[in-house]
Amino acid sequence: MRWLGFTDWRRRRILRRHALPDEAWRQAVAALPLLRGLTAAELGSLRELAALFLHAKDVVGAAGYRLDDGLRLKIAAQACLPVLALGLEYYDGWRSVIVYAGEFVPEHEFMDEAGVVHRMRTPMVGEAWHRGPVVLSAADVERSGEFDGVNVVIHEFAHKLDMRNGAADGFPPLHRGMSVAAWTRAFRAAYEDFCARADAGGETLIDPYASENPAEFFAVMSEAFFEIPQVLHAEYPNVYRQLEAFYRQDPLARIRPANDGGV
Ligand SMILES: [Zn+2]
Repeated sequence: MRWLGFTDWRRRRILRRHALPDEAWRQAVAALPLLRGLTAAELGSLRELAALFLHAKDVVGAAGYRLDDGLRLKIAAQACLPVLALGLEYYDGWRSVIVYAGEFVPEHEFMDEAGVVHRMRTPMVGEAWHRGPVVLSAADVERSGEFDGVNVVIHEFAHKLDMRNGAADGFPPLHRGMSVAAWTRAFRAAYEDFCARADAGGETLIDPYASENPAEFFAVMSEAFFEIPQVLHAEYPNVYRQLEAFYRQDPLARIRPANDGGV
């Protein structure tokens, strides 16, 4: 007989008690074209992660906004996609996801706090705090997951992964076997190229907000990696490869069958 570790045992107990209802999960997946390329096994893992996420985190409305379980699940499913092959422990160390009905204006007295990263739009659609909450606009969550390259949930949770080794700087903790030099080379070259193109006013399918700083570049490249992998792979193949190694996923392979005329 094999003794389950405490973590395994606890995880199974949570999943038994807090499993996501079939119909709610089906609706969430149907509402997120982003998840279409996942295999049945991957979707099963994502469903478990989403249930554990909702058990571990408080996803709460702010400023009088009451969010429903459908939106809660939509946030959980997209937040868990980047850690599908990494594990929910990558989101350890903080507890709250705060959701406003729409765009919000942050409290300015908090703006100078070290480690605060936010989407520099005024008002803002998302924000991630070092060791603190993720803040999201429900209206923008509703628009995410459409496979168009913009995904506020993935963006803010990418900041959370970046912050696992300190303030967000576009350099998350790399896995054993990954090369710091190769990561730095790939991201620096792509960032310089992207900024030059943005300055020149060139059109790009990747959100120009990526030129803001290296932390935003990493978050926006993560959005592109999951949402428009074909664009990222064509424009910055070395960044794609680094993100493939970091996230341990290959979103390009998921969309290929559709491009080849398959089902
Ligand atoms: Zn950001």
